Amino acid sequence: MKLSILGCYSATPRALTNTTSQVLEINNHMFLIDCGEGTQVQLRKHKIKFNRIKHIFISHLHGDHFFGLVGLISTFRLLTREADLHIYGPKGIKEVITLQMKLADSWTNYKLIFHELTSKKSELIFEDEKVEVFTIPLNHRVYTNGFLFKEKEGERKLDIKAVEDANIDTAYFRKLKQGFDVENKDGVLIDNNKVTKPANKSKSYAFCSDTMYKEDIVPIIKNADVLYHESTFLEKHAHLAPKTKHSTAKEAATIAKLANVGTLVLGHYSTRYDGLNAFKEEAQTVFNNVELSEDGKTFNF
Ligand SMILES: [Zn+2]
Repeated sequence: MKLSILGCYSATPRALTNTTSQVLEINNHMFLIDCGEGTQVQLRKHKIKFNRIKHIFISHLHGDHFFGLVGLISTFRLLTREADLHIYGPKGIKEVITLQMKLADSWTNYKLIFHELTSKKSELIFEDEKVEVFTIPLNHRVYTNGFLFKEKEGERKLDIKAVEDANIDTAYFRKLKQGFDVENKDGVLIDNNKVTKPANKSKSYAFCSDTMYKEDIVPIIKNADVLYHESTFLEKHAHLAPKTKHSTAKEAATIAKLANVGTLVLGHYSTRYDGLNAFKEEAQTVFNNVELSEDGKTFNF
């Protein structure tokens, strides 16, 4: 699982910082999460092969999370993309994007498929053999979802030496990987645990931005390997958090602690601050394993 941060600041793009966008590579998928202004420039700058993106997840319709979307869609058209592109986001996203294409008379030559979200409960919005994506309903000034990306439990792994010693026909290997006991060539039942090893641990990533402190997301993101949680403010501006429906670094850390996640990654910093260290320091008073996202930074989990 590889997370590339393209932008992790709130509000406006600046000379050296970008608004929210990130790429998650998980099980051969390349998922784009949010698409602030300048996302396609960041994709090029960081040499991400972005024609591999087939699914884009938009948390909410504030500009700093999706103003780059119509540009990216248009660029895909100019690059003569043929693959379908799926976009998941709040109801209204189809209207706002298609209006721009309509007025420009610039329809895509590839299939653009919108999955508009309206539910206030967590729901499964994407699934294939290896990965599932669930929404994480958040509390912001407009309808907003975070997203939980989860690898499915993999198959058990064969202990080749043990399988050979047990004299099992290769025709049963599939059954063994699925966890069944099988008979060997002499008709003896072989205990699965003696000839296989557990599957690799499946990983999960929770993206939560933008939101005010919302404790009822904890059961949804429980034990996630990595949690990205917005931390717009430091303690000295904590009074602004509920008013603007954002969180402080300390609140993000409290959610991380309650959910027992592996690592907390902070982001969506207000541009009023000069450095980022205070975000980490304040979060670490509550939860130890904290990382700061920065534009261009990648995390391998
Ligand atoms: Zn917002």
